[in-house]
Amino acid sequence: MAQLLKGAPVAAALSAELANRSDALKAQGVTPTLAILRVGERPDDISYETGAVKRCEKTGIAVKKVLLPAGSTSEELLKAVRQINGDPAVHGCLMLRPLPDADAEWAACCMLSPEKDVDGVTPSALGTVFTGRGAGYPPCTAQACMEILSYYGIPLDGKRAVVIGRSLVVGRPVSMLLQRRNATVTMCHSRTADLPAVCREADVLIAAAGQAGMVDASYVRSGQVVIDVGIHVNEAGKLCGDAAFDAVEPVVEAITPVPGGVGAVTTAVLAKHVVEAAERCL
Ligand code: NAD
Repeated sequence: MAQLLKGAPVAAALSAELANRSDALKAQGVTPTLAILRVGERPDDISYETGAVKRCEKTGIAVKKVLLPAGSTSEELLKAVRQINGDPAVHGCLMLRPLPDADAEWAACCMLSPEKDVDGVTPSALGTVFTGRGAGYPPCTAQACMEILSYYGIPLDGKRAVVIGRSLVVGRPVSMLLQRRNATVTMCHSRTADLPAVCREADVLIAAAGQAGMVDASYVRSGQVVIDVGIHVNEAGKLCGDAAFDAVEPVVEAITPVPGGVGAVTTAVLAKHVVEAAERCL
């Protein structure tokens, strides 16, 4: 039976000091504040937003929702970003993605003030992830994977890490962060040949393909650690990940559950970034 790498204790450790730090900021007249920018009413976005708001409540962070109707133009989106940039009460911005218009999304990412970029969306933050230099924050989900690996003491130095997915949100940044911890990283994608064979070579397998239950028993072997980033609702209406948990869990050494794994840690990383961004303002 695999060790369950639950997110709750990792999130608790990350959040432990945050409420105190928020109080200290408030005593100096600064309320750490997160703007959440959402376009439309996608259930995935609303569910992530709900988790983020709860985490902010627990850690003394105020939330300002900026809601645009589905079908908003790129100009309207950029105007909202400009307002967030210009609002001195806001220290961080979470833009719920993906947006239907990828070009508008990238333009908004480029426009956001780097000092308010608590989710690693700006070219500047991605530059920090890539170079290890600068003050940018990594994307919260990618960082959440790293926090789980650190918390559970999973060795990375000299280990083989395989990442399924090459998005800017998860796959690419987590590959860079793993590399920085001296793992030998293979980044896979939808055109990777014989993906199960590549995955079986991993010591640490990060599944971020966005395909429910794709990682089955043929992708894994004993001794592996699996970090499942995927979040989906299956036919039975239950949350599940990219890994077919019942098939994978008996084979591997450790695995994150879905729900209760990476998602729980992502909002804690976000809260930490917001408090840090507010502290930097002082
Ligand atoms: P995305 O769709 O932008 O990227 C998916 C990547 O996986 C792409 O690079 C694609 O090439 C690759 N891919 C898709 N199908 C594949 C296949 N069959 N074989 C190999 N590679 C394949 O998705 P994303 O934004 O990176 O998110 C990935 C998953 O993580 C989604 O399920 C999303 O809901 C979830 N997610 C979770 C959190 C969290 O906090 N836990 C946060 C963000 C995203």
